[in-house]
Amino acid sequence: MHEECGIIGVSFKDEAPAALSIYYALYALQHRGQESAGITVHDGTRVQTLKGMGLVPDVFNKADIQKLKGYVGIGHVRYSTTGGSKIENCQPLLVSFKSGTIAIAHNGNLVNSKELRSELEKEGRIFLSDSDTEVIAHLLVKELMHNELPDAVREMMKRLVGSYSLAILVDNRLVIVRDPLGVKPLCLGRIDNGFVVASESVAIDILNGEFMRDIVPGEMLIFSNGSFESHELVKSKNYAHCVFEYIYFARPDSVIDGQLVYDARLRIGKALFEEHPVKADIISPVPDSGITYAIGFSKRSGIDYMEGLMKNRYIGRTFIMPGQDMRETAVRLKLNTIKPNIEGKSIVLIDDSIVRGTTSRRIIDLIRKAGTREVHMRVASPPIISPCYLGIDMATREELVAAHKAVKGVEALINADSLGYLSIEGLVKAIGIPMDDLCVGCLSGIYPVEIPGEKCGRRQLKLSEFDEPLKKEEISLVQQT
Ligand code: AMP
Repeated sequence: MHEECGIIGVSFKDEAPAALSIYYALYALQHRGQESAGITVHDGTRVQTLKGMGLVPDVFNKADIQKLKGYVGIGHVRYSTTGGSKIENCQPLLVSFKSGTIAIAHNGNLVNSKELRSELEKEGRIFLSDSDTEVIAHLLVKELMHNELPDAVREMMKRLVGSYSLAILVDNRLVIVRDPLGVKPLCLGRIDNGFVVASESVAIDILNGEFMRDIVPGEMLIFSNGSFESHELVKSKNYAHCVFEYIYFARPDSVIDGQLVYDARLRIGKALFEEHPVKADIISPVPDSGITYAIGFSKRSGIDYMEGLMKNRYIGRTFIMPGQDMRETAVRLKLNTIKPNIEGKSIVLIDDSIVRGTTSRRIIDLIRKAGTREVHMRVASPPIISPCYLGIDMATREELVAAHKAVKGVEALINADSLGYLSIEGLVKAIGIPMDDLCVGCLSGIYPVEIPGEKCGRRQLKLSEFDEPLKKEEISLVQQT
């Protein structure tokens, strides 16, 4: 099961309520998951969770938030298109142990969860969901039986292969962990009277907080009453930040691992023109995912930016009656052409990615019906030729159009007059992070971790590398302000 999610952790000094801040922060991460949302808080004696299917405002109302008492807490939004869409898989996930409870919010995907799960089942542990987060929970509980927290987390990390940004409540302690490759984003901010950790910096902004830094891959933070300790649990030589966060997933106003996503997208748009120049009357984005790229393309090419398509932002989940051309109706509900802007014109259409190719085909058909003379498609992502195993819900290899067709074949399939994808080198340069610190598995077919049946391009971390002495640093709110 592949999941895309957003996580939050909040820790306040002096018993200020955490639930409201988590609720606001989840709004800022709604783009990372629309299927379910949840909040867990702890007030020093009691843990409380509220979670459910749907968007943040579907799951929580004012009275609910007021009832969630606690000065420390975590939150989660989840998106999953491939099965697993059920309440048992909603997070935070709660597991009781010894005298207490742990709650976990996870963004990422383990590639060895099947093996770990069957091993734990053989030991008699019972699983209630089919999510890999429950595997993490069981492993942590097991280690906590005979280790202090930092060692327990480190022992757990030795077993996990894949991506995991985690916000965990171990009783009333907030614990934050980022996997040693830093695949999924995670950052730290200071807010009034406390700290926040979030998948994206926009969540810190929404709380009127101050961005402090990214969580270092392999780092663990433990928060309590207005201070935190940082433990460097394992140090990787190289990271594997997901390029798809920059291409599609993250909000453009987020700063991830030192790069403002908007700037990366602007540079990608410029590079796309340099790699695939074209003469046209206007450049038009597929809203919203193509907008920043189109601005960059327009700046570099001098071709006018003009909207040819409008998106209905209020569409949500809609039923379509059978008997009509369902797919075409679905596209028309979401997108409409601004006919006078494109009629008789040659246009460059720009989007973030082609996955299966069906969306681009439908959009180009729509545009051609409005009387467009030529449609030149330019795509920010290089061809996606391999599935993602590390937390982006993409498609199977069979479904990925670029896994089976060369550029000319895709061009014909989507009915474009020309098609240009950015190169992997162009993308890496535009993101501004060295290739050795990025995961481009979906674009190259070479992954940063060992995945059965796939190529691995990295030396794997040895268990002994987890056993270097712990480096520890303590930071408190008082010291900081
Ligand atoms: P298609 O080629 O028909 O599979 O659709 C590709 C479009 O879906 C892209 O232009 C994106 O805007 C969007 N998209 C890409 N990746 C994802 C994803 N992981 N989850 C949801 N939508 C996506």
